[in-house]
Amino acid sequence: MQVNIPLKKTIDNSYDITIDSLPKLHFDKKVAIITNTTVSDLHLDYLKERITAKELIVVTLPDGEQYKNQESINKILNALFENRFNRKSLLIAFGGGVIGDMTGFAASIYQRGIDFIQIPTTLLSQVDASVGGKTGMNNEYGKNLVGAFHQPKAVYIDPYFLKTLPLREFGAGFAEIVKMAVTFNKDFFEFLQDADMRDEQTLIEAITRAVKTKAEVVAKDEKEHGIRAALNYGHTFGHVIENETKYEKYLHGEAVAIGMVMANELACSMGLISNDEAVAVKFLLEKYSLPVDYEIKDIQKFYDAFFLDKKSSDSKITFIIPKGIGDVVISDECSKELLISVLEKFGV
Ligand code: NAD
Ligand code: MG
Repeated sequence: MQVNIPLKKTIDNSYDITIDSLPKLHFDKKVAIITNTTVSDLHLDYLKERITAKELIVVTLPDGEQYKNQESINKILNALFENRFNRKSLLIAFGGGVIGDMTGFAASIYQRGIDFIQIPTTLLSQVDASVGGKTGMNNEYGKNLVGAFHQPKAVYIDPYFLKTLPLREFGAGFAEIVKMAVTFNKDFFEFLQDADMRDEQTLIEAITRAVKTKAEVVAKDEKEHGIRAALNYGHTFGHVIENETKYEKYLHGEAVAIGMVMANELACSMGLISNDEAVAVKFLLEKYSLPVDYEIKDIQKFYDAFFLDKKSSDSKITFIIPKGIGDVVISDECSKELLISVLEKFGV
């Protein structure tokens, strides 16, 4: 299936997202493939059969979120300087969201900005991280606190890579797909309820619909002044869970899955969704072995941790609250009493 999604008009840097087997690509310029050890071992040969360039180098970074840092960015930049890359050169991000974010960030600052393309290899990066132009790295103050908006020139999503993806990583990506369906598209949610992702056509359809949803949202609000924030559904709670469990127990998508269940509890309390709808979301997450329960040991501490979220302005916390399935309310007006009563449902 070939699907092109041009982010035209609202974004100057419009680009196509192709969901298909990777075509043969030739670039009449210097190209650097940025990848990590895992993806390189599994898939670099496949990529190299399809990419030719005037000059091609490969920068292989260690694998892991802990390497999404300044040191890795410097490694990328140094390789570009050593190989005399210029402003016409191109970077290719080949890996999951960690590689995608860092490659995009390096591209955004190398000689004040060069082109890059995304070839995402995890489900999460195919449906979420590779689309929308957020790039960045972590530092000792937190995750993704340094970065830039820098749109790729193109995104090539090849489901072939997912064959080697561990099941847990697949589930984490699926959680972000559920996020997009619940917040923006009831029909998509109903499709997911019946879908068997082991079937390749179904998987492609799900990826396509998720990417379309994200692309539409980003086209409306590239820099997250409004509706793009809805993509943080489940994330306000999820970030606290990730912090409490020191980023060790849950993958990001798993924490988001629990976060969505918590956000739904909030929505139920506000009369925005029915209990049946909340149960349907939970059921879908469980189908992919995602966690949906969490024991909050210290409710006040959990509440206080909301205010450490970089996406909250000083004293207000923004919650993304589903309104039925397929619609959403963005609110920073939830009272402390209401939030505490929701958190108590998860208390020990
Ligand atoms: P990841 O990049 O760490 O990949 C997960 C694991 O899967 C890694 O060990 C990776 O080496 C491995 N892997 C990658 N492709 C594989 C394949 N085909 N087969 C087997 N293993 C493979 O994590 P992720 O979940 O892809 O992305 C998470 C990152 O993305 C976070 O850093 C997050 O901040 C970022 N992110 C960014 C955006 C954005 O809009 N820019 C959105 C969501 C997430
Ligand atoms: Mg996320």
